[in-house]
Amino acid sequence: MNRRKFVVSAMALPISAYAMKLNSLHKLFAGSGNTGTMPVLFLGHGSPMNAIELNEFSRGWQHVGKSLPTPTAILCISAHWETRGTFVTAVEKPRTIHDFGGFPQALFDVQYPAPGSPELAMETKRLLKTTEVGLDETWGLDHGAWSVIKHLYPNADIPVIQLSLDYSKPPQYHYELASELAALRNKGVLIIGSGNMVHNLRTIDWKKPDTGFDWALETDVKMREWIADGNHQALIDYKKGGRAFEQSIPTPEHYLPLLYTLGLQGKNEELSFFNTKTIMGSISMTSVRIG
Ligand code: ZN
Repeated sequence: MNRRKFVVSAMALPISAYAMKLNSLHKLFAGSGNTGTMPVLFLGHGSPMNAIELNEFSRGWQHVGKSLPTPTAILCISAHWETRGTFVTAVEKPRTIHDFGGFPQALFDVQYPAPGSPELAMETKRLLKTTEVGLDETWGLDHGAWSVIKHLYPNADIPVIQLSLDYSKPPQYHYELASELAALRNKGVLIIGSGNMVHNLRTIDWKKPDTGFDWALETDVKMREWIADGNHQALIDYKKGGRAFEQSIPTPEHYLPLLYTLGLQGKNEELSFFNTKTIMGSISMTSVRIG
């Protein structure tokens, strides 16, 4: 994991540069004509190979991409960018990061050249009042972001930024931080949490391509119940969920993006599931759409 960061504080910019950035932010949002509240997604991304395979999951992402209003920009919280402290990518042209090993060359050849948006990064920093957010110029788009967004927006013409996961913080922090991003939804920004609700790579079973172990299925069902009931506190307190949850979430990074998605759900806002399937014994592809 590359944790080197080049952090630029917005405060360090000369006032004129800051004003210029805000001006281009205004332009970013003004051109959209998008006045509704943008839905929010949690996408179970699974194997990086889904980026180049046409299968039931990538079709599910393509379908949801076609059903959404065209976003002005995308903010993605990916399982694959963990940092100490919270950061947003603030580069004009984010690089495509191939943060995996042992896959075919065709996967390493994929580029997803969507533009970045330093303006949206700055706006995100401004909105997240309860924590200091660093502007990062070293990260780009990791596979948690591009492997799914590529299917939603194959033309790579929507600006994408990422928000990192602060690995030192508890689940409640992530859930509450997300709620501070709600205003972006009204500016046409599509917020995507990308991870997997059940994700245990140590117990992957190649003999179970289309189903999960009992404990994985049990956790997936229980989570869907809690999500459907709006019982977010039970999901935040997932560590109290017992043995099945311990096995399903051995480390938090693939689970926490779900809490960002749920933290953005408005009161009584409708919600649906798709790609609802547990595979390889211990990976749940279950995805959620809010709004
Ligand atoms: Zn992953």
